[in-house]
Amino acid sequence: MNPIPVNEPLLDGNEKRYLFECIETGWISSEGQFVKQFEEQLAARVGRKYGIAVSNGSVALDVAVAALGIGSGDEVILPTFTIISCAAAIVRVGAVPVVVDCDAQTWNMDVSQIEAKITSRTKAIMVVHTYGLPVDMEPVLTLAGKYGLHIIEDAAEMHGQTYKGSPCGSFGTISTFSFYPNKHITTGEGGMLVTNDEKLAEHCRSLRNLCFQPQKRFIHKELGWNFRMTNLQAALGVAQLERLEEFVARKHHMGQRYTELLADIPSLELPIPKTDYAENIYWVYGLVLKDEVPFDAEEAMRRLAKYKIGTRPFFWPMHEQPVLQKMGLFDGVSYPVAERIARRGFYIPSGMALTDEQICRVAQVVAEVFK
Ligand SMILES: *Cc1c(COP(=O)(O)O)cnc(C)c1O
Repeated sequence: MNPIPVNEPLLDGNEKRYLFECIETGWISSEGQFVKQFEEQLAARVGRKYGIAVSNGSVALDVAVAALGIGSGDEVILPTFTIISCAAAIVRVGAVPVVVDCDAQTWNMDVSQIEAKITSRTKAIMVVHTYGLPVDMEPVLTLAGKYGLHIIEDAAEMHGQTYKGSPCGSFGTISTFSFYPNKHITTGEGGMLVTNDEKLAEHCRSLRNLCFQPQKRFIHKELGWNFRMTNLQAALGVAQLERLEEFVARKHHMGQRYTELLADIPSLELPIPKTDYAENIYWVYGLVLKDEVPFDAEEAMRRLAKYKIGTRPFFWPMHEQPVLQKMGLFDGVSYPVAERIARRGFYIPSGMALTDEQICRVAQVVAEVFK
Protein backbone atom coordinates (compact mmCIF):
# COMPACT_ATOMS: atom_id res chain seq x y z
CA MET A 1 0.00 0.00 0.00
CA ASN A 2 1.24 3.50 -0.82
CA PRO A 3 1.71 5.81 2.14
CA ILE A 4 -0.94 8.47 2.63
CA PRO A 5 0.80 11.68 3.70
CA VAL A 6 -0.79 13.91 6.32
CA ASN A 7 -0.72 16.77 3.81
CA GLU A 8 -0.17 17.25 0.11
CA PRO A 9 -0.96 20.55 -1.62
CA LEU A 10 -2.75 20.93 -4.95
CA LEU A 11 -0.80 23.02 -7.47
CA ASP A 12 -2.54 22.24 -10.75
CA GLY A 13 -4.05 25.64 -11.57
CA ASN A 14 -2.16 28.68 -12.92
CA GLU A 15 0.82 28.18 -10.59
CA LYS A 16 3.24 27.08 -13.33
CA ARG A 17 2.13 29.80 -15.72
CA TYR A 18 2.63 32.62 -13.21
CA LEU A 19 5.93 31.21 -11.96
CA PHE A 20 7.13 30.96 -15.56
CA GLU A 21 6.16 34.59 -16.03
CA CYS A 22 8.36 35.60 -13.06
CA ILE A 23 11.32 33.78 -14.56
CA GLU A 24 10.73 35.05 -18.11
CA THR A 25 10.52 38.65 -16.93
CA GLY A 26 13.26 38.39 -14.32
CA TRP A 27 10.95 39.63 -11.55
CA ILE A 28 11.77 37.23 -8.75
CA SER A 29 12.32 39.51 -5.73
CA SER A 30 9.75 41.19 -3.53
CA GLU A 31 9.58 44.10 -5.99
CA GLY A 32 7.53 42.11 -8.50
CA GLN A 33 3.90 42.83 -9.41
CA PHE A 34 2.49 39.54 -8.10
CA VAL A 35 3.26 40.68 -4.54
CA LYS A 36 1.05 43.77 -4.88
CA GLN A 37 -1.60 41.80 -6.70
CA PHE A 38 -1.67 39.08 -4.04
CA GLU A 39 -1.83 41.68 -1.25
CA GLU A 40 -4.72 43.52 -2.88
CA GLN A 41 -6.66 40.42 -3.77
CA LEU A 42 -6.35 38.72 -0.41
CA ALA A 43 -7.19 41.91 1.48
CA ALA A 44 -10.24 42.44 -0.75
CA ARG A 45 -11.30 38.83 -0.21
CA VAL A 46 -11.61 39.42 3.54
CA GLY A 47 -12.95 42.98 3.30
CA ARG A 48 -9.78 44.74 4.43
CA LYS A 49 -8.20 47.84 2.89
CA TYR A 50 -4.54 46.88 3.21
CA GLY A 51 -2.54 43.68 2.84
CA ILE A 52 1.14 43.32 3.74
CA ALA A 53 2.76 40.13 2.47
CA VAL A 54 5.53 38.62 4.59
CA SER A 55 7.70 35.51 4.54
CA ASN A 56 5.49 33.32 6.76
CA GLY A 57 2.57 33.29 9.18
CA SER A 58 4.76 33.28 12.28
CA VAL A 59 6.57 36.50 11.43
CA ALA A 60 3.23 38.06 10.49
CA LEU A 61 2.42 37.74 14.21
CA ASP A 62 5.79 39.26 15.17
CA VAL A 63 5.07 42.23 12.92
CA ALA A 64 1.50 42.60 14.23
CA VAL A 65 2.60 42.70 17.86
CA ALA A 66 5.49 45.08 17.16
CA ALA A 67 3.42 47.37 14.93
CA LEU A 68 0.82 47.79 17.68
CA GLY A 69 3.57 49.06 19.96
CA ILE A 70 3.13 46.24 22.46
CA GLY A 71 6.23 46.02 24.62
CA SER A 72 7.85 45.44 27.97
CA GLY A 73 5.37 44.74 30.78
CA ASP A 74 2.31 44.71 28.54
CA GLU A 75 0.02 41.70 28.61
CA VAL A 76 -1.65 39.89 25.73
CA ILE A 77 -4.40 37.32 26.26
CA LEU A 78 -4.33 34.25 24.00
CA PRO A 79 -5.43 30.61 24.00
CA THR A 80 -3.04 28.15 25.63
CA PHE A 81 -3.96 25.67 22.88
CA THR A 82 -2.12 27.18 19.92
CA ILE A 83 1.13 27.19 17.98
CA ILE A 84 4.28 28.59 19.63
CA SER A 85 4.41 31.44 17.07
CA CYS A 86 1.64 33.27 18.98
CA ALA A 87 3.38 33.22 22.36
CA ALA A 88 6.80 33.80 20.77
CA ALA A 89 5.65 37.03 19.14
CA ILE A 90 4.48 38.32 22.53
CA VAL A 91 7.51 37.19 24.52
CA ARG A 92 10.00 38.56 21.99
CA VAL A 93 8.85 42.15 22.51
CA GLY A 94 9.12 41.71 26.29
CA ALA A 95 5.37 41.40 26.82
CA VAL A 96 3.65 38.73 28.89
CA PRO A 97 1.44 36.02 27.35
CA VAL A 98 -1.65 35.39 29.51
CA VAL A 99 -3.51 32.26 28.50
CA VAL A 100 -7.03 30.89 28.71
CA ASP A 101 -8.22 27.31 28.29
CA CYS A 102 -10.11 26.09 25.26
CA ASP A 103 -13.61 24.85 24.67
CA ALA A 104 -13.95 21.05 24.70
CA GLN A 105 -16.20 20.97 21.62
CA THR A 106 -14.70 23.58 19.28
CA TRP A 107 -11.08 23.39 20.54
CA ASN A 108 -11.05 27.20 20.26
CA MET A 109 -10.31 29.59 23.12
CA ASP A 110 -12.98 29.60 25.83
CA VAL A 111 -14.05 33.22 25.48
CA SER A 112 -15.88 33.14 28.81
CA GLN A 113 -12.49 33.00 30.55
CA ILE A 114 -11.07 36.17 28.97
CA GLU A 115 -12.60 38.93 31.09
CA ALA A 116 -11.19 37.58 34.36
CA LYS A 117 -7.70 37.82 32.86
CA ILE A 118 -7.91 41.49 31.86
CA THR A 119 -5.73 43.84 33.94
CA SER A 120 -4.56 47.44 33.59
CA ARG A 121 -1.57 46.09 31.65
CA THR A 122 -3.61 44.17 29.05
CA LYS A 123 -3.08 45.61 25.58
CA ALA A 124 -4.57 43.03 23.25
CA ILE A 125 -6.44 39.79 22.82
CA MET A 126 -4.87 37.44 20.30
CA VAL A 127 -7.58 35.17 18.93
CA VAL A 128 -6.57 32.02 17.05
CA HIS A 129 -9.15 30.23 14.94
CA THR A 130 -8.28 26.59 15.35
CA TYR A 131 -8.52 23.57 13.02
CA GLY A 132 -11.74 24.49 11.19
CA LEU A 133 -14.09 26.49 13.36
CA PRO A 134 -13.67 30.17 14.20
CA VAL A 135 -13.48 31.63 17.69
CA ASP A 136 -16.81 32.96 18.99
CA MET A 137 -15.93 36.55 18.07
CA GLU A 138 -18.89 38.57 19.35
CA PRO A 139 -18.05 38.33 23.07
CA VAL A 140 -14.40 39.09 22.24
CA LEU A 141 -15.36 42.19 20.24
CA THR A 142 -17.54 43.34 23.13
CA LEU A 143 -14.69 42.95 25.63
CA ALA A 144 -12.22 44.69 23.32
CA GLY A 145 -14.62 47.63 23.06
CA LYS A 146 -15.37 47.73 26.78
CA TYR A 147 -11.69 47.71 27.84
CA GLY A 148 -10.13 49.48 24.84
CA LEU A 149 -8.06 46.48 23.74
CA HIS A 150 -6.67 45.58 20.34
CA ILE A 151 -7.64 42.31 18.73
CA ILE A 152 -4.95 40.45 16.81
CA GLU A 153 -6.75 37.81 14.76
CA ASP A 154 -4.60 34.81 13.81
CA ALA A 155 -6.53 33.53 10.79
CA ALA A 156 -3.67 31.29 9.56
CA GLU A 157 -6.00 28.29 9.26
CA MET A 158 -9.12 30.12 8.16
CA HIS A 159 -8.85 31.20 4.51
CA GLY A 160 -12.40 31.22 3.24
CA GLN A 161 -14.04 30.75 6.66
CA THR A 162 -16.66 33.14 8.01
CA TYR A 163 -18.05 34.02 11.44
CA LYS A 164 -21.77 34.88 11.29
CA GLY A 165 -21.25 35.61 7.60
CA SER A 166 -18.25 37.94 7.97
CA PRO A 167 -14.88 36.70 6.70
CA CYS A 168 -12.24 35.50 9.13
CA GLY A 169 -9.44 38.00 8.68
CA SER A 170 -11.87 40.92 8.92
CA PHE A 171 -12.05 41.09 12.72
CA GLY A 172 -10.22 43.36 15.09
CA THR A 173 -7.34 45.75 14.61
CA ILE A 174 -5.18 43.47 12.51
CA SER A 175 -5.35 39.92 11.19
CA THR A 176 -2.71 37.50 9.99
CA PHE A 177 -2.61 34.59 7.55
CA SER A 178 -0.15 31.81 6.75
CA PHE A 179 0.40 30.18 3.36
CA TYR A 180 2.36 27.16 4.52
CA PRO A 181 1.63 24.13 2.27
CA ASN A 182 -0.89 22.66 4.69
CA LYS A 183 -3.06 25.80 4.72
CA HIS A 184 -6.02 26.21 2.39
CA ILE A 185 -3.91 28.21 -0.02
CA THR A 186 -0.15 28.04 -0.13
CA THR A 187 2.88 29.94 -1.38
CA GLY A 188 5.35 27.33 -0.09
CA GLU A 189 6.26 29.61 2.77
CA GLY A 190 4.44 32.88 3.21
CA GLY A 191 2.16 35.02 5.30
CA MET A 192 0.15 38.22 5.27
CA LEU A 193 -1.14 40.92 7.57
CA VAL A 194 -4.42 42.66 6.75
CA THR A 195 -5.90 45.76 8.36
CA ASN A 196 -8.07 48.79 7.66
CA ASP A 197 -5.77 51.16 9.53
CA GLU A 198 -3.56 53.04 7.06
CA LYS A 199 -0.92 54.09 9.63
CA LEU A 200 -0.70 50.60 11.04
CA ALA A 201 -0.36 49.16 7.52
CA GLU A 202 2.50 51.55 6.82
CA HIS A 203 4.20 50.60 10.05
CA CYS A 204 3.89 46.90 9.12
CA ARG A 205 5.37 47.59 5.67
CA SER A 206 8.26 49.40 7.24
CA LEU A 207 8.92 46.68 9.86
CA ARG A 208 8.85 44.02 7.12
CA ASN A 209 11.47 45.94 5.14
CA LEU A 210 14.18 46.66 7.75
CA CYS A 211 12.56 50.06 8.44
CA PHE A 212 14.38 51.58 5.49
CA GLN A 213 13.29 55.20 5.21
CA PRO A 214 11.86 56.35 1.89
CA GLN A 215 14.19 59.37 1.70
CA LYS A 216 17.27 58.39 3.72
CA ARG A 217 17.26 54.68 3.06
CA PHE A 218 20.17 53.62 5.24
CA ILE A 219 19.35 55.76 8.27
CA HIS A 220 17.05 53.88 10.66
CA LYS A 221 14.80 55.21 13.41
CA GLU A 222 13.51 51.79 14.34
CA LEU A 223 14.67 48.18 14.00
CA GLY A 224 12.78 46.05 11.53
CA TRP A 225 13.33 42.74 9.81
CA ASN A 226 13.70 41.45 6.31
CA PHE A 227 10.42 39.55 6.24
CA ARG A 228 9.62 40.28 2.57
CA MET A 229 7.72 37.83 0.37
CA THR A 230 9.21 37.08 -3.06
CA ASN A 231 7.38 37.51 -6.34
CA LEU A 232 7.77 33.74 -6.88
CA GLN A 233 5.83 33.04 -3.69
CA ALA A 234 3.19 35.64 -4.54
CA ALA A 235 2.80 34.16 -8.04
CA LEU A 236 1.76 30.90 -6.38
CA GLY A 237 -0.51 32.84 -4.04
CA VAL A 238 -2.37 34.56 -6.86
CA ALA A 239 -2.91 31.22 -8.62
CA GLN A 240 -4.05 29.55 -5.39
CA LEU A 241 -6.39 32.37 -4.46
CA GLU A 242 -8.23 31.92 -7.76
CA ARG A 243 -9.36 28.54 -6.42
CA LEU A 244 -10.12 29.38 -2.81
CA GLU A 245 -13.85 28.68 -3.12
CA GLU A 246 -13.18 25.31 -4.71
CA PHE A 247 -10.58 24.45 -2.06
CA VAL A 248 -12.88 25.32 0.82
CA ALA A 249 -15.67 23.21 -0.75
CA ARG A 250 -13.21 20.37 -1.15
CA LYS A 251 -12.12 20.47 2.50
CA HIS A 252 -15.73 20.65 3.56
CA HIS A 253 -16.47 17.55 1.51
CA MET A 254 -13.47 15.71 3.00
CA GLY A 255 -14.62 16.55 6.51
CA GLN A 256 -18.14 15.34 5.80
CA ARG A 257 -16.86 12.09 4.29
CA TYR A 258 -14.63 11.37 7.28
CA THR A 259 -17.50 12.13 9.64
CA GLU A 260 -19.82 9.73 7.80
CA LEU A 261 -17.21 6.98 7.71
CA LEU A 262 -16.02 7.35 11.31
CA ALA A 263 -19.36 8.05 12.99
CA ASP A 264 -19.77 4.51 14.35
CA ILE A 265 -16.47 4.26 16.17
CA PRO A 266 -17.40 4.78 19.81
CA SER A 267 -13.87 5.43 21.07
CA LEU A 268 -13.37 8.61 19.03
CA GLU A 269 -14.55 12.19 19.45
CA LEU A 270 -14.93 13.75 15.99
CA PRO A 271 -14.84 17.44 15.07
CA ILE A 272 -18.29 19.02 15.36
CA PRO A 273 -19.76 19.89 11.94
CA LYS A 274 -20.99 23.33 12.95
CA THR A 275 -21.79 25.82 15.68
CA ASP A 276 -24.49 28.48 15.63
CA TYR A 277 -22.00 30.91 14.05
CA ALA A 278 -20.09 28.84 11.49
CA GLU A 279 -19.78 25.56 9.61
CA ASN A 280 -16.61 23.58 10.10
CA ILE A 281 -14.25 23.96 7.12
CA TYR A 282 -11.98 21.19 8.46
CA TRP A 283 -8.61 22.83 7.93
CA VAL A 284 -7.43 19.56 9.46
CA TYR A 285 -9.55 16.58 10.52
CA GLY A 286 -8.80 16.10 14.20
CA LEU A 287 -9.63 13.07 16.33
CA VAL A 288 -9.67 12.93 20.12
CA LEU A 289 -9.46 9.57 21.90
CA LYS A 290 -12.19 9.18 24.49
CA ASP A 291 -11.08 8.72 28.07
CA GLU A 292 -11.88 5.00 28.12
CA VAL A 293 -9.27 4.34 25.39
CA PRO A 294 -6.31 2.86 27.29
CA PHE A 295 -3.61 4.60 25.22
CA ASP A 296 -2.82 8.16 24.16
CA ALA A 297 -2.44 10.02 20.86
CA GLU A 298 1.23 9.09 20.52
CA GLU A 299 0.39 5.41 20.57
CA ALA A 300 -2.56 5.96 18.22
CA MET A 301 -0.28 7.70 15.73
CA ARG A 302 2.28 4.88 16.01
CA ARG A 303 -0.44 2.36 15.21
CA LEU A 304 -1.60 4.31 12.16
CA ALA A 305 2.01 4.74 11.00
CA LYS A 306 2.26 0.94 10.72
CA TYR A 307 -0.35 1.23 7.99
CA LYS A 308 1.55 4.19 6.46
CA ILE A 309 -1.14 6.67 7.41
CA GLY A 310 0.38 10.09 8.09
CA THR A 311 -0.71 11.95 11.23
CA ARG A 312 0.27 14.97 13.32
CA PRO A 313 -0.17 15.54 17.02
CA PHE A 314 -2.39 18.37 18.26
CA PHE A 315 -0.78 21.55 19.57
CA TRP A 316 0.95 21.33 22.95
CA PRO A 317 -0.40 23.97 25.37
CA MET A 318 1.64 27.13 25.88
CA HIS A 319 1.49 26.81 29.68
CA GLU A 320 3.26 23.43 29.38
CA GLN A 321 6.07 24.62 27.09
CA PRO A 322 9.51 24.13 28.67
CA VAL A 323 10.88 27.21 26.90
CA LEU A 324 8.18 29.45 28.39
CA GLN A 325 8.27 27.82 31.83
CA LYS A 326 12.02 28.48 31.95
CA MET A 327 11.19 32.17 31.66
CA GLY A 328 9.15 31.91 34.85
CA LEU A 329 5.81 31.88 33.06
CA PHE A 330 2.79 29.73 33.94
CA ASP A 331 4.06 28.41 37.26
CA GLY A 332 1.66 25.89 38.78
CA VAL A 333 -1.29 26.64 36.51
CA SER A 334 -3.56 24.07 34.87
CA TYR A 335 -5.88 24.26 31.89
CA PRO A 336 -7.50 20.84 31.82
CA VAL A 337 -9.30 20.96 28.48
CA ALA A 338 -6.17 21.89 26.53
CA GLU A 339 -4.09 19.40 28.51
CA ARG A 340 -6.52 16.64 27.67
CA ILE A 341 -6.84 17.26 23.94
CA ALA A 342 -3.07 17.78 23.61
CA ARG A 343 -2.55 14.27 24.97
CA ARG A 344 -5.49 12.56 23.30
CA GLY A 345 -5.78 14.48 20.02
CA PHE A 346 -4.13 14.14 16.63
CA TYR A 347 -5.14 14.66 13.05
CA ILE A 348 -5.34 12.35 10.07
CA PRO A 349 -4.55 13.08 6.38
CA SER A 350 -6.34 16.31 5.47
CA GLY A 351 -4.38 17.86 2.59
CA MET A 352 -5.92 19.41 -0.48
CA ALA A 353 -4.72 16.61 -2.78
CA LEU A 354 -6.35 13.86 -0.69
CA THR A 355 -8.64 11.70 -2.87
CA ASP A 356 -11.95 10.06 -1.94
CA GLU A 357 -10.26 6.65 -2.22
CA GLN A 358 -7.59 7.72 0.24
CA ILE A 359 -10.24 9.01 2.65
CA CYS A 360 -11.95 5.61 2.52
CA ARG A 361 -8.71 3.80 3.18
CA VAL A 362 -7.78 6.06 6.08
CA ALA A 363 -11.24 5.53 7.56
CA GLN A 364 -10.96 1.75 7.17
CA VAL A 365 -7.60 1.68 8.93
CA VAL A 366 -8.83 3.99 11.70
CA ALA A 367 -11.86 1.72 12.19
CA GLU A 368 -9.63 -1.33 12.41
CA VAL A 369 -7.19 0.24 14.84
CA PHE A 370 -9.79 1.76 17.17
CA LYS A 371 -12.69 -0.67 17.14
C1 LIG B 1 0.42 27.69 10.53
C2 LIG B 1 0.09 28.59 11.63
C3 LIG B 1 0.89 29.69 11.97
C4 LIG B 1 2.28 29.88 11.44
O1 LIG B 1 2.40 29.99 10.10
P1 LIG B 1 3.79 29.66 9.37
O2 LIG B 1 3.56 30.21 8.00
O3 LIG B 1 3.94 28.18 9.39
O4 LIG B 1 4.86 30.36 10.10
C5 LIG B 1 0.44 30.58 12.93
N1 LIG B 1 -0.72 30.39 13.55
C6 LIG B 1 -1.50 29.33 13.29
C7 LIG B 1 -2.79 29.20 14.02
C8 LIG B 1 -1.12 28.38 12.34
O5 LIG B 1 -1.90 27.32 12.09
